[in-house]
Amino acid sequence: MFKTIRDYDVSRKRIFLRLDLNVPIKEGKIKDDSRIVASLPTIKYLLEKGAKVVAASHLGRPKNGYEPQNSLEPVSKRLSELLAEYRIHFAKDVVGKDAFDKSSKLKEGELLLIENVRFEAGETKGDEELAKKFRKFGDIYVTDAFGALHRAHASVYQAAKLFDVVLSGFLAEKEIIYLKETLKNPERPYFAILGGAKVSDKIPILKSLVEKVDGMAIGGAMAYTFLLAKGYKVGKSLVEPDMIETSLGIMKRAEEREIQFLLPVDHKIARSLEDKEFKISDSVEDDFCGYDIGISTVKLFEREIKKAKTIVWNGPLGVFENPLFRSGTMDIAKIVAETDAIKIVGGGDSVSAVRLSGVADKITHISTGGGASLELIAGEKLPGVEILYEKGQ
Ligand code: AMP
Repeated sequence: MFKTIRDYDVSRKRIFLRLDLNVPIKEGKIKDDSRIVASLPTIKYLLEKGAKVVAASHLGRPKNGYEPQNSLEPVSKRLSELLAEYRIHFAKDVVGKDAFDKSSKLKEGELLLIENVRFEAGETKGDEELAKKFRKFGDIYVTDAFGALHRAHASVYQAAKLFDVVLSGFLAEKEIIYLKETLKNPERPYFAILGGAKVSDKIPILKSLVEKVDGMAIGGAMAYTFLLAKGYKVGKSLVEPDMIETSLGIMKRAEEREIQFLLPVDHKIARSLEDKEFKISDSVEDDFCGYDIGISTVKLFEREIKKAKTIVWNGPLGVFENPLFRSGTMDIAKIVAETDAIKIVGGGDSVSAVRLSGVADKITHISTGGGASLELIAGEKLPGVEILYEKGQ
């Protein structure tokens, strides 16, 4: 197992804290501060213990060093507002003079946020020299940057390797417990619901889940590639012809394992997303696109979902952003929420879809990690997670 900040005496220690403060910023204004808010429990815990915290995060994808639009300065201001009872400092560089001067002057219970780690070219390359500089900021490494743990970047992985004590914060802890530990030996029946736009984005998770689950249901645009592979007409629905072989392989495995592999049996179809109305049809007629699952499909999926003791869901089952094509995803969200199974929802759009359905509070765990969530659910080894386990021995 791994150790958390609860398992080690962090009082008055110097801590290098890797966070995920990658929030959307437009013209210097933060559009959604939920990632900052989500980091507060860990930060407060450390500061209340009198730790001296140097915090780091990435933001956006800067290409050539410092770029004002990717500066963490607005994030630092927001942190100061949210943590008004603490002193929050900001360094104008990552591993430069300002960062080291300010970190050496930190007092107990104070936090210094350094600039966007991706302003250093070595960050995304996993550069060891850069990691050595991060190492100087603390005696203990704490990670709560769940959304970045699948990347072997310098501040995520290489730096962690250099510390003797590597601990998780509260956010990363919950994600790893549900997505890794719970799913290692899931209570059965274990059922997966997968949707979203592309099969190609989800190959690893599809291939992995088909070996583990007792049943799975496919919706969203992804379903049309599977239906096409089975010889159904899909009209002008979004398909990936080069994924047909892969889809056939996945369905073959489901058959060999004798597990349920459910595809839509009816569809909400329209000529385009600009249409003001839709038809419900058993097949997708020529010139039409399937944009959502129909009522019979909801009923079909419901029968299996109700039997499950563990449910994993990734990806909306239709174009839920458009109110005309939202009901399939909303109905399934409500059905999932009503079960007494362990319910795990992961990945960006599924999270907004579940929030929209109003049943988010009935979901056991809503993962916010995007790529990291998918990889962990698929059973892949994430560098930032592996190092936590290694150092937790
Ligand atoms: P993903 O990021 O792969 O989970 O995909 C999410 C996106 O898939 C959302 O923006 C949905 O609008 C889109 N989507 C879901 N179902 C369909 C569909 N039947 N046709 C086109 N796009 C879809």
